[in-house]
Amino acid sequence: MKIGVLGLQGAVREHVLAIEENGAEALVIKRAEQLEEVDGLILPGGESTTMRRLIDRYGFMEPLRAFAASKKPMYGTCAGLILLAKEIVGYDEPHLGVMDITVERNSFGRQKESFEASLEVKEVGTDFPAVFIRAPHIVSVGERVNVLAEHGDRIVIARDGQYLGCSFHPELTDDHRLTKYFLTMVEEYKENLA
Ligand code: GLN
Repeated sequence: MKIGVLGLQGAVREHVLAIEENGAEALVIKRAEQLEEVDGLILPGGESTTMRRLIDRYGFMEPLRAFAASKKPMYGTCAGLILLAKEIVGYDEPHLGVMDITVERNSFGRQKESFEASLEVKEVGTDFPAVFIRAPHIVSVGERVNVLAEHGDRIVIARDGQYLGCSFHPELTDDHRLTKYFLTMVEEYKENLA
């Protein structure tokens, strides 16, 4: 099983380590053709507007849409979640627009630009450490979407079929259970092909 990490900008290396710690192979994706080599893709945290600019500049938009259409699992964290969302509050157009959720950027307020919380995550476990950095939150989800965790009254992790998204940075701690959960999604995808 080989997992790609979109390597245009943001917290790329940490995701690579989390994948490897779970016993899978990681590939940093710098060119769109490399997408063909992987079974699942992580879109890291960073800055969604910068990432979008690089996606356009390096011709990633169509290949990423084709990757999504091929039903391969995709996992967006923080800015990566914003890239996946079908709707972004205050914006006319989404980026990839594939995951049936609405997100709001930088939604935890200035005074709380960065903070940590401990979450209960459905299908993953309790006491999950979450590092929020200028984080978005999930305002609403479509009917088929499974909410996996909330912080206060805000949705912070959700799964929509092949898509997993979380609003914080799970790769910045050494708790790699959410990556492991994503790997089970990729395994399921591969089994369905067989
Ligand atoms: N605020 C960033 C954005 O809108 C996301 C922050 C992050 O990924 N840590 O893209």
